[in-house]
Amino acid sequence: LFKKFEDGKDEIAETKDGRKILVMANVGNEDDLNTALLNGCDGVGLFRLEFYFMNTNSLPSPQELAQIFEKFAKKLEGKPLTLRLLDIGGDKEIPYLEIPKEHNPFLGLRGIRYLLKHEKLLKNQLEAIKLVKYKNMKIMVPMVSTVEEIRELKKIIEKDKGDKKIGIMAEVPSIVFMADKIMKEIDFISIGTNDLTQYIFAVDRTNEDVSYLYDDMHPAVLRAIAMLTKEAQRANVPVEVCGELAGNPLAVPILIGLGITELSVSPTLIPMIKWIIQRLSYREAKELVKRVLELENGEEVREEVRKFFKNIL
Ligand code: PEP
Ligand code: MG
Repeated sequence: LFKKFEDGKDEIAETKDGRKILVMANVGNEDDLNTALLNGCDGVGLFRLEFYFMNTNSLPSPQELAQIFEKFAKKLEGKPLTLRLLDIGGDKEIPYLEIPKEHNPFLGLRGIRYLLKHEKLLKNQLEAIKLVKYKNMKIMVPMVSTVEEIRELKKIIEKDKGDKKIGIMAEVPSIVFMADKIMKEIDFISIGTNDLTQYIFAVDRTNEDVSYLYDDMHPAVLRAIAMLTKEAQRANVPVEVCGELAGNPLAVPILIGLGITELSVSPTLIPMIKWIIQRLSYREAKELVKRVLELENGEEVREEVRKFFKNIL
């Protein structure tokens, strides 16, 4: 099945009308990275650190972390390595860290909120980042919901970050509405559609009883992405999508049409996503976007994209 996607996987994907799209990888460990490299990734768009913290009995030292980052950097040979600061809380648990039991963990102390409360844990990662001399390493902050949070983090990180770029995940709806303000504070933004969808619909992403309401192709989510992309472009801030949506073939023409130029997906999906991009035209994708933003639900959106594909594939 995957054979047909092999062609062109090692080149940067371009639409038929010449728009270049980077296809990066979401990784959690070295195996993921190796798979991503074999599949022609253009870099790492999301390195989830949780894996390393969950698989040790105690806090890894900055030196240990730095060693891991260096190893990744070496393999990437100059391609971007986007490191996400530890995103714990919510459904992500780490045994040796004190994570309070909360009534609503997804609305509680997670991501940047936890890090700002536990500076030792934050400093541990920053110390490691400082030790790594890779030019193309970026720092990404999870679960930001206000301008103040990112300012506070930047104050702490200022001295240590060197010339590394700092960006945030857009996964809380407040960021969508405050996008023009937030863009002034950051070097890049990456849309985490998994959490953004959960928070837009007020649907716990792990609760099957309400999963029928969870739809990352719903126009509500697509409109949020459109708003974010518009403000990012206005402020000249690169914008990427790194949630599951980016690896969904039906979503790719919509995301390209919205103006997204970087997708970060599961390593094995990279060749297929590049294959699709090569068969799209940006102009036609923009027309498709105009139509889907006016639909009423995700199923209608998927149907519209299927029609679109029938005409071009
Ligand atoms: C997301 O929320 O879309 C995301 C990429 O982060 P995670 O799935 O790790 O919460
Ligand atoms: Mg998330």
